Amino acid sequence: MEKTVTWSAFRGYVEYIWREKKVLFLYGALFFPAFIVANYLQIYLPKMIIMELEEKRSIAYVGVSVLALVLALCLAILLREQMSSRLKYGNRQIARKQQQDYTNKLLYVDYGCLEDQEFLAMRNMAKESIFGGSIGGQGRAHLKDFMPEVVMLVAAAGNVILYLYYLSKISFLLILVLFFVVFLGTSINVKVFRKNEKKHGQRSANTWQKLDYVTRKTEDFSMAKDIRLYDMAPWLTGLIDEYLGERLLFKKKEMISRGLGDGVYMLTVGVFMASLLGMLLLRFWDGNIEVSDVVFYANMGPALYHLLDREVSSRCFHLFQIMTEYQRFQTFMNYGEDTGTMDVPVRKEAPSIVLEHVSYSYPGAEKEVLKDINLQVRAGEKVAIVGVNGAGKTTLMKLICGLLHPTGGRILLNGADMETMEAEERYAWFSCTFQDVQFLPVSIRENISQEMEGVGSVSAERDEKIWNCLHLAGIKKEIEELPEKLDTLLEKNINENAMDFSGGQRQKLILARALYRDAGTLILDEPTAALDALAENEIYEKYAEFAREKTSFFVSHRLSSTRFCDRILLLDGGNIAEEGTHDELLAAGGIYRKMFAMQSKYYQGGDKE
Ligand code: ADP
Repeated sequence: MEKTVTWSAFRGYVEYIWREKKVLFLYGALFFPAFIVANYLQIYLPKMIIMELEEKRSIAYVGVSVLALVLALCLAILLREQMSSRLKYGNRQIARKQQQDYTNKLLYVDYGCLEDQEFLAMRNMAKESIFGGSIGGQGRAHLKDFMPEVVMLVAAAGNVILYLYYLSKISFLLILVLFFVVFLGTSINVKVFRKNEKKHGQRSANTWQKLDYVTRKTEDFSMAKDIRLYDMAPWLTGLIDEYLGERLLFKKKEMISRGLGDGVYMLTVGVFMASLLGMLLLRFWDGNIEVSDVVFYANMGPALYHLLDREVSSRCFHLFQIMTEYQRFQTFMNYGEDTGTMDVPVRKEAPSIVLEHVSYSYPGAEKEVLKDINLQVRAGEKVAIVGVNGAGKTTLMKLICGLLHPTGGRILLNGADMETMEAEERYAWFSCTFQDVQFLPVSIRENISQEMEGVGSVSAERDEKIWNCLHLAGIKKEIEELPEKLDTLLEKNINENAMDFSGGQRQKLILARALYRDAGTLILDEPTAALDALAENEIYEKYAEFAREKTSFFVSHRLSSTRFCDRILLLDGGNIAEEGTHDELLAAGGIYRKMFAMQSKYYQGGDKE
């Protein structure tokens, strides 16, 4: 089965290149004769000189013919190298396209896939294939090597056939000897390689992964504080030292086995060359061949052996590796549904949202996180979702905004089943803010408006709207005081000149972004988790003010922050366990009341009943 899969992957990749860059086939077609002619002339040159000397040609004649041959050789080598570089570069352009495909897949794939461990494992493998594998894959052939490898293989095979034809004129037996020793040498080498891979391959890759991870942590600005305050430097140096030591040990073992392989290679070459030379001398003594022929074949022998053993067989092995990588890439690309790229305008009107018997379980998980949830939210209603960590609040929000799809039941948006809508149509209804606040390393203007900026494209209207949102979010004054104002860069990790905002300021910027989007439904999933209760109250009040006209969902595990909502839902055991206003829930004396009493002990200020 593996064979047919590899073959279909091979055909798939060839077709892909034919579609994307036909000129590579022309380069290949020119490389083929240049490669064979260059190799042939190199071994023909000494034969020709001896022949002409034996025939007692004039110095001028020999000089001119040698010059002509050397010139032809130079031209062939020049053409071969030119085509080889063009093939390599052309394949890099193809690889770039694959890298774009990979990124687009991650950007457009249905969100549910990103929560699926199987997809994530596939993504890691495809990433290694596409980006040349910094993880444990050193020395491997990669997707970008495909065309050069195929063309080299075809050219080397053509060259081998030509030399075998010549060799058959001396003795057919020699061909048998040649194949036997190459087969023997290759089998021993493959055995040694496999043994080494089996013994150390996985561990070596794991060590590389750990080394890569720890090294990246030393470069990570956000780790810098902990490293200093917890005196982690000696520990990290120790770890890196340990991993580097292990890597060196693996390298040593790999080199020893490679040395063994080279030894076997030399031995087999020796056996073949001894047989060839013996046969040539016998033919010479019998008067069947001339000295020039002996020189010709004696030069051809090692060249043929090298072509067969090193070029043909190793290229086959490389192609096998590349096909495995291509298959990984294809499997990744074909996994899950992709969303489209429709440009749907943001829907500003508040919709009604109805959940009918909605259940959800994560891919691969046996337990349902949410079970048979029924809920009706009026257009413009403010709903709070509370519950302990892990109760399923975030999952419910992801279902409502259409990032995840219910595994049971359905969700209606203004009466229409969300599953019948395109992803872009669903997302157009929502302004969401989740716990993990992410900005891009670009200006505040771009982060708030979520629009890339071309030089000189600053629109006064857009800036006015941004300032207005920053004002509503309560951070206008701080931004105005910055020398670069809206051009201030974010993310100090990436931009040296970036501004390092505090947790609260980042929350306000995120609020400004949601205000700027201004969609009909607002979802706030504990964007304030990093803030204290008072700061959270302040932010929630701002959101509430803004959300007056919107259908909104406020998620929090701090019960006091959501008192202003029309209705509070308490999630417990995968279901809505309690429902009502703050006062109603307190009066009911259930889980909500217990949680509220507990939290009131810890939070002072506005948290008391
Ligand atoms: P909450 O927001 O209330 O803290 P979540 O919705 O984040 O709860 O998680 C609910 C449950 O779903 C938790 O038990 C969590 O471990 C599980 N869960 C969350 N994400 C995944 C995932 N990608 N795969 C499997 N289980 C998950």
